[in-house]
Amino acid sequence: MKVLLVYAHPEPRSLNGSIRDFVVKRLTDAGHEVRVSDLYAMGWKASLDAADSTGWNDDERFEPSRASARAFANGHQSADIAAEQEKLLWADALILQFPLWWFSMPAILKGWVDRVYANGFAYGVGEHSDQRWGNRYGEGNLSGKRAMLIVTTGGWESHYSARGINGPMNDVLFPIQHGILYYPGFDVVPPFVVYRTSKVDEARFEATREALGERLDSLWETAPIPFLPQNGGAYAIPELTLNDDFSAGKTGFGAHVMG
Ligand SMILES: Cc1cc2nc3c(=O)[nH]c(=O)nc-3n(C[C@H](O)[C@H](O)[C@H](O)COP(=O)(O)OP(=O)(O)OC[C@H]3O[C@@H](n4cnc5c(N)ncnc54)[C@H](O)[C@@H]3O)c2cc1C
Repeated sequence: MKVLLVYAHPEPRSLNGSIRDFVVKRLTDAGHEVRVSDLYAMGWKASLDAADSTGWNDDERFEPSRASARAFANGHQSADIAAEQEKLLWADALILQFPLWWFSMPAILKGWVDRVYANGFAYGVGEHSDQRWGNRYGEGNLSGKRAMLIVTTGGWESHYSARGINGPMNDVLFPIQHGILYYPGFDVVPPFVVYRTSKVDEARFEATREALGERLDSLWETAPIPFLPQNGGAYAIPELTLNDDFSAGKTGFGAHVMG
């Protein structure tokens, strides 16, 4: 299998750097092909702007979505964006690895999503009608591929538990797992989270490697998070609210997960 690891940490000698090296070795030793987009090492440009569309006329008012659609369709995207899209299409699985910074991904990785997820590539795909609302949330150009997050946090596991002060980790990661990964079609397997990183020593690192190794070995068999697909009857279209017989009585992020 082919795995794309998109990695966002500024320091190779960090815990994340050690985890990245472990991930690459474990997958490679198991016979998988691995490509790494090391965003800091690449000097990845994080901010989306008019320079991303080489065919955009400077006198025109810059409209990010329209510029993105036009550049994608006409082959006018900047080369770094096109290269990452090629890697995504090549991969059978995508891993995003990052330290949790302010309850989300580091800005450089968010900028990777903003720029690489072009209009016509990751969104704005498919028919919009009273029966369908585009190919998204379970359908899309990246469907058939798997995705997984590897996240490290300063906070303790209890801080991210069902009644923990930071909110449950599944809720914190919902905008990434549902909004960024499930949206363009990925099957998203549960995340691998390393909590309370300040307490990682050699023994805990060894246990972490062991647990992560098992997750990587079973990446292709692990059941994805059962998000409800948009066009499968769970949602009224075009309102895109859950129909009464799905997730009855539930609201919030958890309502969009089956069962
Ligand atoms: C801007 C910012 C915002 C943040 N926001 C949040 C937030 O919203 N929520 C939250 O929970 N946390 C937050 N944090 C904390 C952050 O998530 C952690 O600092 C980060 O996950 C730690 O990962 P690291 O790779 O930088 O670890 P490092 O600091 O590199 O390492 C952590 C520990 O692991 C040990 N270690 C490193 N490598 C190895 C190795 N090979 N073997 C054994 N031990 C090793 C180190 O000695 C150290 O004790 C934030 C931090 C910053 C800077």
